[in-house]
Amino acid sequence: MNSTRLKILIIDDTPSNIQLLGEVLEQKYIIQIATSGERGLQLAHQDPPDLILLDIMMPGMDGNEVCKQLKSDDILKNIPIIFITALSDTETELQSLALGAADFIQKPFKIEIARLRIDNLLEREALRKELVIKEQQQRLAASVFNYSHDGIAITNSDNQIIDINRSFTRITGYQISDVIGKDPKILQSGQQSDKFYQGMWDYLLKHNNWSGEFWNKHKKGHLFAVQSSIAIIRNAAGDIDHFVAIFSDITLRKTHDEALKRIAYFDELTGIPNRTLLSDRLTQAIAQTQRNNTIMALCFLDLDGFKQVNDQFGHEVGDKLLIEVTQRIARCLRKVDTLSRIGGDEFVILLLDLNAEDEYSVSVERILNILQQPFVIDNNSINISASIGVTLFPQNDNDSEILLRHADQAMYTAKQKGKNQYFLFDAKLDHDLYEHEQSLSQIKQAISNNEFVLYYQPKVNLSNGNVQGFEALIRWQHPQKGLLAPAEFLPIIENSDLMIELSDWVIASAMQQLNQLQEVNSKLAISVNIAPCHLIQKDFVRKLQDHLNTYPNIAAECLELEVLETAVLDDVLRVSEIMKSCMDLGVNFSLDDFGTGYSSLTYLKNLPAKTLKIDQSFIRDMLVDSDDMAIIVATIGLAKAFHREVIAEGVETVAHGKKLLEIGCELAQGYGISHPMPANEIKDWLLQWEDESKVFQRS
Ligand code: C2E
Ligand code: MG
Ligand code: MG
Repeated sequence: MNSTRLKILIIDDTPSNIQLLGEVLEQKYIIQIATSGERGLQLAHQDPPDLILLDIMMPGMDGNEVCKQLKSDDILKNIPIIFITALSDTETELQSLALGAADFIQKPFKIEIARLRIDNLLEREALRKELVIKEQQQRLAASVFNYSHDGIAITNSDNQIIDINRSFTRITGYQISDVIGKDPKILQSGQQSDKFYQGMWDYLLKHNNWSGEFWNKHKKGHLFAVQSSIAIIRNAAGDIDHFVAIFSDITLRKTHDEALKRIAYFDELTGIPNRTLLSDRLTQAIAQTQRNNTIMALCFLDLDGFKQVNDQFGHEVGDKLLIEVTQRIARCLRKVDTLSRIGGDEFVILLLDLNAEDEYSVSVERILNILQQPFVIDNNSINISASIGVTLFPQNDNDSEILLRHADQAMYTAKQKGKNQYFLFDAKLDHDLYEHEQSLSQIKQAISNNEFVLYYQPKVNLSNGNVQGFEALIRWQHPQKGLLAPAEFLPIIENSDLMIELSDWVIASAMQQLNQLQEVNSKLAISVNIAPCHLIQKDFVRKLQDHLNTYPNIAAECLELEVLETAVLDDVLRVSEIMKSCMDLGVNFSLDDFGTGYSSLTYLKNLPAKTLKIDQSFIRDMLVDSDDMAIIVATIGLAKAFHREVIAEGVETVAHGKKLLEIGCELAQGYGISHPMPANEIKDWLLQWEDESKVFQRS
């Protein structure tokens, strides 16, 4: 009980009367004395006491009046009053009780009895006050329970619900009658595992409280999310009396979180994981594959012909197609696999838990097959296919980024091999590609460093020694490796932009050289080898015209273009069109390496080439190999029949030259006449050739 001493105010006009009582009470209480009714009221107002001993008979304001005034004061009215009276008649007793006195003590005092009465009264009063406070607290608790916005459930030690509040009903849909005596389990949604609940109980029993989030099931069946705190209420012996669960509905926040998560991790169009989620999954998949000692196949899929669908039918149809593609692919996968979309028509598929290196092919083939079936979208029948690149982990033991890149590369190879197929990443191929990239950048550097030069090899008429002109042959003056032949670098840049750039440089340099040559002899020509990819450039003819325009004094006939017979045959119609346009500018053509491409006579008839250049492979053994000789003779005949010139390349000896003359081929080029030479040696060679040429004419 309260340890502070209680205060008693004694109001009595004759202090001697109560002196003794006062002394006894002072041992336990704080005593204040007022000798008149007015003073008593004043002191009571200043500092309300816990008990007032009030004399009835006083001059001026008597005890009854003081009592009345005390009872009419809101603050003082609850202070218990004990009347002190010398009168012992019943009327006085009744009157004083009617006025609200708690008790009365008779004068003269029997000190012990008076003290006991006072003690009892104050004790009762203290209990009453305590009760009032408890009641207030209970009322407060009840209204907190009832009006709380959070749902509250109280269960007994067997975890059976004994009470719930209104918010519980609002949030869960269950009334008290639905749940009383039941286990709160009835709210479980199945969204959390048994392990989750086990963990919750373990923690709760150990720490007496638990808080966390989970999904529950509403009475009507839908799910809702709660943030919940559960506490254990134990009795004095430490045994569990109750569990109290307080929870708030966080479904809105959760669904908002979910929506944000969807945007961040899922592809908006198809709803499957996007690149961000893929990279998470990939990291997990690698770890899982290592842990389980299995194999993962990472497949990079790119649709063939998707762009055309977009162009032809519009983006809306394109989008619908992507959605259907997603659904079809998903049908070929198992639950452990991941399908993600990482770009327009690019998908990445993770096939997990494979036990053999070729197991992936079953799924991949199924996907290729299912995508080949026609799609019907908005009444349009659409046919597409896919190219898939695959790489296996741990066979390809690299991090997720490199694995993705390798699968992408393999996909690219599948495309190059003709689409609608898959290709397994090949480490050697990767290395080659890397080397290729390196070489490309070195060549690019060499172009800007001006490391390429042209060598010139004369073309002559063996019958009279006349020099017709020179063939420009490119060399790379490599700072470390020395002079490199075209075979060492041209194949690397074949079909690349670098080839176009370099070829353009070749024509420009050759024209510049031709300009100088013509000062010596205006009949001299220069021939330039044209790469097939260069020739078919849209602006080839226009650029050629530009080159010619740079040197208005040079006759266009003095520029000759050598194209490989094989290249022409690849696309006869297109190439012969371009050739015709060039010839309209006055430029001539030779069909290089003639005889290696099996030109049909029909083609030859239509090809606007001035010269056939017999391939050196036939010339080399012509003196010993009668088949080669036969081909040469036939080619010479062919040229004559179609009114074309014919030239032999690879004429290495005088004997070759003489034989060619004998069978009617006068034009020749080869080491036997001259090796290709740098431009600055041409003048000296021309002088020296006048004598040397005669060796071919002597019999
Ligand atoms: P091509 O146009 O058939 O050129 C003839 C090749 O035979 C040249 O090799 C030349 O050096 C070589 N040669 C000439 N006479 C003889 C001989 O008597 N015996 C032997 N064994 N070889 C002889 P090169 O310079 O290595 O050029 C190889 C090929 O590279 C050329 O064959 C041509 O197709 C291509 N090429 C050269 N320069 C260029 C160029 O500027 N642009 C393009 N696109 N291709 C070029
Ligand atoms: Mg050539
Ligand atoms: Mg050739």
